[in-house]
Amino acid sequence: MSKEKKTKYCTKCGFKNPSDSNFCSNCGASLSKFDFTAESETSNVPPEASWLDRCPVCKSGKLSLVEKKKLLGLVATESFECSDCNAIFVKKGEKYKLSKVQDKSNQIWQEYKHQALTGREWKNITYGGLSDAKQKEADIVVWMEKLREGEVPFHFGGKSPIILKKNERLQMALPNVSLIEPRAVRTGGYGGGSFRVTKGVSLRTGRFQMESHDELKTIDQGTFVLTDERVVFSGTKRTVNIDLKKILSIEPYSNGIGLRRTGKSRTEYFTGVEQHNVSFSIDGRHYKEPLSGSILMCLIEGLMKKE
Ligand SMILES: [Zn+2]
Ligand SMILES: [Zn+2]
Repeated sequence: MSKEKKTKYCTKCGFKNPSDSNFCSNCGASLSKFDFTAESETSNVPPEASWLDRCPVCKSGKLSLVEKKKLLGLVATESFECSDCNAIFVKKGEKYKLSKVQDKSNQIWQEYKHQALTGREWKNITYGGLSDAKQKEADIVVWMEKLREGEVPFHFGGKSPIILKKNERLQMALPNVSLIEPRAVRTGGYGGGSFRVTKGVSLRTGRFQMESHDELKTIDQGTFVLTDERVVFSGTKRTVNIDLKKILSIEPYSNGIGLRRTGKSRTEYFTGVEQHNVSFSIDGRHYKEPLSGSILMCLIEGLMKKE
């Protein structure tokens, strides 16, 4: 068993906590959580108005209740119809499903046909906003682009698990990360430990291809440390020290990253980052997402731009 497996460093105070703790026993901070805040933008949605006051489809008519009895007469469907464009919204629990429009080329119909959304979401759409799901996608892309440009400030004042150089700043320390390297396959193979890296959603598309006749072999388990100058993997058997200036390319996966660097022919993969969550907010909207290779890639690229 490795030492890293048994401890979880607090990013606020640097206190060593047992790996199964969710909160720091020294300062009470949430563990495995990183906070980012992006710039706020003002919204023009009138807070008092009801979504029924203005139709999300044509943005001119008003919506009013039309009750239609179903054939068997037992279930009454509540529907809302627009006075101008005849768009129909059918109530589904707490939500309203856009069920019918006259003009099928309408952009709102194209984007939200047959979707059930809350009145708040429909009101946002009427005033140029998005549904919660689309807003989240858009916010994540904006936030990742900001990370990539090095525009997101960090608030990690924690103690580093590695000794930092003068003026070097810790960005994050992730325990329980695996170091994986491609190894040539020989007859008989290896006694376990090989697996595939899962391809994740990325801003950059790049297909993951295994080097021919190679398989991936787990080399070690340890803590993945990112500073504004280096990537350090501190394992039980192996320590990897990568200067950010020496990184040639970064391959993002849903559960980690592959790094290519000068002076090393093989790609080094670091997986298990998705066990850690990342929190951020944009325009007062808060998100907590598992850390992914794409997020890590944007963060590293942002740090490389700062130098
Ligand atoms: Zn703490
Ligand atoms: Zn309408």
